[in-house]
Amino acid sequence: MILGAHVSIAGGVALAPQRASACTCETFQIFTKNQLQWHAPPLSKDEITGFKREVQQYRLTPGTVHAAYLVNLSAAEPDLLAKSRQCMATDLGKTERLGIPWLVVHPGAHRGQGSAKGIDVAASSLDYIFRLSRTQHTSILLETTTGAGTVLGGTFEELAAIRERCHFPDRVGFCIDTCHIFGAGYDIRTAEGYATTVQKMDDVLGLDNVHAFHLNDSKGALSSTVDRHAEIGQGEIGLEAFRLFVTDRHFANVPGILETPGGDPAFARNLALLRSLLPSPPPTEL
Ligand SMILES: [Zn+2]
Ligand SMILES: [Zn+2]
Repeated sequence: MILGAHVSIAGGVALAPQRASACTCETFQIFTKNQLQWHAPPLSKDEITGFKREVQQYRLTPGTVHAAYLVNLSAAEPDLLAKSRQCMATDLGKTERLGIPWLVVHPGAHRGQGSAKGIDVAASSLDYIFRLSRTQHTSILLETTTGAGTVLGGTFEELAAIRERCHFPDRVGFCIDTCHIFGAGYDIRTAEGYATTVQKMDDVLGLDNVHAFHLNDSKGALSSTVDRHAEIGQGEIGLEAFRLFVTDRHFANVPGILETPGGDPAFARNLALLRSLLPSPPPTEL
């Protein structure tokens, strides 16, 4: 796994790579704007050039952009749906111009329409976003959720169904959040539970379509649908699951992004802990 964290863009996107590097990231995730606002000014040419230069300077692998939390791709309210689609199209354009391959989004909440209807609306939203954004390369990753209330994405099947109904499946993949799948009932705490979960992931999503991980321990218990992130090894999931994920050859080239609490110093500490789980290289012979 290529390890990194979600870093701030305070002061401009071009400052994010340095922040990521300072906490020992190999890759990183950003928001393109304040995640609690709908609108933001477009990125200037200078900001984009500066960002790309800094990514190279610090030898980082471009990772992911996370969409705004306001977005609901399966909203029942026409106004919210229109705003969500517009916001995502803008974000997808920005993601592509920044040279970042993936835009991560939660699939949304159907708010009582039922999950079948919600899945259809989310798939139509993806079609609309790809067409409106006029992007060519950047893909959207649907993130797993804990499935609380009417939120879609608590099962791999729901995410797969959205991708299947979209007209651009080649540009839709998945982001697995360890805290969310655990809260949704996927027990990854033991080698057996991990193997069963990854098999399911392969059967339903296809491991080739899993392009990012959010590595978070969980303050909530298994199947609690609680979405509260804990530092690695300090939550209900525990270290063994993370050892299995970071050493799994299937995910060797996939970004694993921390969204743990505690800010940048905690990221450095959590990354060091994750790296300590990797097998040490064999001693070189003299
Ligand atoms: Zn996440
Ligand atoms: Zn979360």
